[in-house]
Amino acid sequence: MSEYPVVVVGAGPVGLAAAAQLLERGLEPLVLERGPRAGAAVAAWHHVRLFSAWSELVDPAGGRLLEPTGWVRPDGAEYPTGREWAERYLQPLAEALGSRVRFGAEVVGVARRGRDRVVDSGRDDEPFSVHVRTAAGEQRLLASAVIDASGTWGSPNPLGGEGLPAIGEHAAADRIVYRVPNLGDAQVRVRYSGKHIAVAGSGHSALTALVALSGLAKENPATRISWVLRRGGIGTAFGGGDADQLPARGALGTRAKEAVEAGLVSVVTGFRTETVERDDTGRLSLGSANGQRLSDVDEVVALTGFRPELGWLSEIRLELDATLQAPVRLAPLVDPNVHSCGTVYPHGAKELAHPETGFYLAGMKSYGRAPTFLAMTGYEQVRSIAAALAGDHEAAGRVELVLAETGVCGGAGLFDDPGTTAASDGCCGPAEPEVLTLAAPSRAGN
Ligand SMILES: Cc1cc2nc3c(=O)[nH]c(=O)nc-3n(C[C@H](O)[C@H](O)[C@H](O)COP(=O)(O)OP(=O)(O)OC[C@H]3O[C@@H](n4cnc5c(N)ncnc54)[C@H](O)[C@@H]3O)c2cc1C
Repeated sequence: MSEYPVVVVGAGPVGLAAAAQLLERGLEPLVLERGPRAGAAVAAWHHVRLFSAWSELVDPAGGRLLEPTGWVRPDGAEYPTGREWAERYLQPLAEALGSRVRFGAEVVGVARRGRDRVVDSGRDDEPFSVHVRTAAGEQRLLASAVIDASGTWGSPNPLGGEGLPAIGEHAAADRIVYRVPNLGDAQVRVRYSGKHIAVAGSGHSALTALVALSGLAKENPATRISWVLRRGGIGTAFGGGDADQLPARGALGTRAKEAVEAGLVSVVTGFRTETVERDDTGRLSLGSANGQRLSDVDEVVALTGFRPELGWLSEIRLELDATLQAPVRLAPLVDPNVHSCGTVYPHGAKELAHPETGFYLAGMKSYGRAPTFLAMTGYEQVRSIAAALAGDHEAAGRVELVLAETGVCGGAGLFDDPGTTAASDGCCGPAEPEVLTLAAPSRAGN
């Protein structure tokens, strides 16, 4: 199989890191990206400032590949926007990878050559057949292994509280967005200024939108913001505050809390949206499963999370958790229904393996529907996967990262349990022993 490349789906932070890690291992990567440039998903939220600093956003192998090119490493203590992450790191990294990254190449299917999902015979001896759609037509590429790092940005969850669109949600599509609005854009500001906006969701994106929109409400007091939560109380939605080991992530929750306390945001709890109706004036009225109603809504910002797109993996034998749609051995580490911390221990090829030998989900997509994914988790995943593909099982099994605790015991899955609180000194218990820095400056083995 060594005559075929390892195909990586997606030139996002984790896909490009996978390519850099594979190269260091002497394996040939081929990255297929459906967008026109690297970091297409990240660039779509270019206006959002990350809560991770640069020191947590540059993959070690990516940095080592870039250094000889004259690339200037950004100040590790600064926090970039999505645009800066894409322009100052992801796009240069794709350039350094050269023809190993193809743009405008959408992966629409993966199978074993000549075999559908059902056929056992000779399965592991065949390369993968990657079905690709480009402007020039359809292609089939053969691969020795496939790392699917295509993220979840393309499939946001609906507003409907049951995970399916609410009645009337499609019909109201002109008034609903599923991404954080860019209030730096004059036209977008006009859309929201002086309006009644319902923000649904309790994750970091929802907090980001609340903070941005409350700035607008200060400027134009006619702006009303209703924060619609499925959970019975605010509970841990503001995050860990000072107990969060990522200070900017903790500060985001603190700023959202201040906006609520200042009366800029009204909180509506226990609201699982069932219906979206339009009144005679064209404004929306949201109805919840328990009979609550939120009326006179001009705009809805639905930030209820993302889910993995699995349709094009129908011919691959995946082993996914029934709840989260994440690899079965990873899911217990990240399940917000049972996980007591909101963060996850480092993990790698072993936890990400499937019955289909040589196929991995990595990055944001590997978390399925679980929240709180961090790029540094993905970098560690692909370091381990690259080691496993190169046959270095000792390195693949090694833990090389300790992640920052959120400072919150209990995650999103506990949305009806008001008893969960922010921890004062973390709640994950001791981390695994071996710790290496993410910002290692020199090439491995030097
Ligand atoms: C608003 C916001 C703020 C965030 N802030 C942080 C933060 O501060 N720190 C942090 O660590 N993480 C943050 N995240 C999470 C962040 O998205 C991930 O860390 C990172 O982008 C995940 O990288 P990825 O490569 O797994 O996926 P993505 O960045 O989503 O990249 C996937 C790539 O695959 C491509 N693709 C998709 N489908 C296909 C296909 N079928 N064929 C070919 N290409 C395809 C996409 O175009 C995209 O370029 C944030 C996310 C959001 C939405």
